[in-house]
Amino acid sequence: MADLPFHDRGDFEDADRGFIAKLSPAVIRTVDGRVVWDNDSYDFLQEDCPGTAHPSLWRQGQLCSKQGLYEVTDGVYQVRGLDLSNMTLIEGERGVVVVDPLISTECAAAALKLYRAHRGERPVTGVIYTHAHADHFGGVRGVTGGGVPILAPAGFMRHAVAENFYAGPAMARRAVYMYGRALPRSPQGQIGAGLGMTVSTGTMSLIPPTDEIARTGQEETVDGVRMLFQLTPGAEAPAEMNVLLPARRALCLAENATHNQHSLLPLRGAAVRDVRAWARYLTEAIALFAGRADVAFASHHWPTWGAERVERFLSRQRDMYAYLHDQTLRLLNKGLTAPEIAEVVQLPPDLEQAWHTHGYSGSLVHNVKAVYQRYLGWFDGNPAHLWEHPPRESAIRYVECLGGGAAVVAFARRYIDENDLRFAAQLLNHAVFADEGNKEARDLLAEVYTRLGHGAENATWRNCYLSGALELADGTVPATLDTASPDFFAALTVEQIFDSIAIRVDGPRAWHERLSIDWHLEDLGERYRTTLSNGAFIQQPAPRDGAADLTLRLTKAQLVGLLTGKGVEGVRREGDTTVLQRLVAVLDRPVPDFAIVTA
Ligand SMILES: [Zn+2]
Repeated sequence: MADLPFHDRGDFEDADRGFIAKLSPAVIRTVDGRVVWDNDSYDFLQEDCPGTAHPSLWRQGQLCSKQGLYEVTDGVYQVRGLDLSNMTLIEGERGVVVVDPLISTECAAAALKLYRAHRGERPVTGVIYTHAHADHFGGVRGVTGGGVPILAPAGFMRHAVAENFYAGPAMARRAVYMYGRALPRSPQGQIGAGLGMTVSTGTMSLIPPTDEIARTGQEETVDGVRMLFQLTPGAEAPAEMNVLLPARRALCLAENATHNQHSLLPLRGAAVRDVRAWARYLTEAIALFAGRADVAFASHHWPTWGAERVERFLSRQRDMYAYLHDQTLRLLNKGLTAPEIAEVVQLPPDLEQAWHTHGYSGSLVHNVKAVYQRYLGWFDGNPAHLWEHPPRESAIRYVECLGGGAAVVAFARRYIDENDLRFAAQLLNHAVFADEGNKEARDLLAEVYTRLGHGAENATWRNCYLSGALELADGTVPATLDTASPDFFAALTVEQIFDSIAIRVDGPRAWHERLSIDWHLEDLGERYRTTLSNGAFIQQPAPRDGAADLTLRLTKAQLVGLLTGKGVEGVRREGDTTVLQRLVAVLDRPVPDFAIVTA
C-alpha cells in the first residue's frame, strides 16, 4: 500500500476541471417524495481515510462522489455524480444531444435541468445510447418523450432486455450485495461501487432507438453534430460503441475505457465478458482516433485531456486487459487452476502505478477467474472436485471432523490471530452452514467479513463482505425488482416472453402434464405453438396447422398482461380453456430474498 502513487493528483485535477455548478442539495426524489438519489450522503468522504477503508478505494470514492455540471470541451458538457453513470450533453445547431441518460428518469430530468440552468433552455434534439446496459438508457424519458433521433449500436434492443433477463431475480438479489444497497453510507459502510457511488432507485424507462449503428467507420450527423462510430460488441456489453466528435476533437469511450479495471464478471453474476475482444477494440480505437481527440470521456468517471495523455490512457487500459487475458491463458496451460492463477498474477509496475488500472469494480483476482471460466468452465480437472457434497452437507461433515461447532470457532480464532482472515472465513462459514444457530460462529464470521470488507480495495468486494456481515446479524434483505417498467415489457420479444414462462415451470410438478397452445399474435401477424411435455415448455414459431388443445387470439400487450397476472379478458379462446389454468398451476416463482451467507 505504501507503493500506491498518492503523489499523482492528476485525477483530482481532471475530475474538477471545467466545473460549472453543483446540484444543491444533491437529493433527487420521485413525484411522491421518495428519495432516489442522495449524493450529499457521501459528504463524509471529504475527510481523511479512516482505518475502516482501503485508502485507494477511499480515494476513488472522493473522486466518484464529486457531482455537478462540467464543461468537457467547447459545446460538450457532462453531468456527473447524479447517478452511477454520467450524462453527456453535446450542443448542436438547434438544441442539445444527450448521450446516456442515466438509470432513472428522475435523475436524468434533474441532470438536464442543471445543464439548462447554466446553458439555456435548449431542446433535446437527439439521444445516443452508447450501450445496452440500463445505467445508460433507463432515464431516457426524463429527457425526452421521443420524436427525436435516437442512435444506438446494432443489436441494442435485443440486448437491452436480454442480458439480465433470464437470471434477473438472482442477479437482483446478488446486486444487493454488490452495491451494498442495505448498508449505511458511512466510513464503516458503503463508500461507493467503483464505477460510481451506487445505482439510483427511481423510475426506469426505455425508448427504442430510431437508428442502429451497423458498422465501424459509419458517420452520422444529429442536429448538426457530426459523429464517427466504432462498434465494440461483445466486450463490456453485447452491443456497445465508441463515438468520435471530429469537430470537437472529443472522443466518447462509452464504458470501454474508464478509470478502473472493469469487471469481466460482476459479482452479482453475468455471462463472462470477452477480454480478448476488449483489448483488440482498444487497439482499434487507438488506430482510429489517436491524434484526433484532445479529450476522451466515458459514461463513468472523469475525462482525460491532451492527445498524448488520451493515447497513453488507452494504451495502458489495453495492455492491462490484454495482459490479464494472456497471462491467465499462459498459466492455465501450465496446469494452474483459477484460484492458483489469481494468487500469482500481478500487473506490471508501469500499469500498477496508473490509478486507472486498479480494480474498483473488477479486480485482478476475480477477473482472472472469469477468464479461466470463459475458457475452461467450473471444473478444474481434479476428480475430487467433480462430485462434491453441496455446501451445507460438506459443512456438516467438516464440522464433525473438526470436533464440533465450538472447536471450529476456536480454530478460527487462531487463524484470526495470525491475520489469516481468508481461512477464518472459510472455517466459520462451515460452522454457520452446519448450524445456523451457532451464534458465536455467526458473530465471529460477521466480524471477519467486516474486517475483510474494510481492507478491500475493490468496492464490490467491500460491499459483498459488509452485506454478508449485515445479514448475519440482521437477516436477509430482499431485492427490489425494478422490472415492472411498461417500457421493458414492451421491449421483450415474444420469444423472450415464452422463455420467461419456460424457466418458471416447476419440473417435477409438470412431469405428467401435457398440453399445447396456439398463440395468434394478431397485431404482429405472428403465430406460435407452445407445448408442455416432460416438464419442458417448448415454443415453436409458425407452426403447421393442426389441433392444439387451445387457440388464443390476442395482441402482444395482452400476452404481456397474461404473464403479469392481468388475466384473459379480451383474449379470444377456442378449445379447452382449462389448459391455461393447468399451465399456471405448474409455474413457480423466484425467491427475492434467498439466503446467501447462511444455508
Ligand atoms: Zn455503466
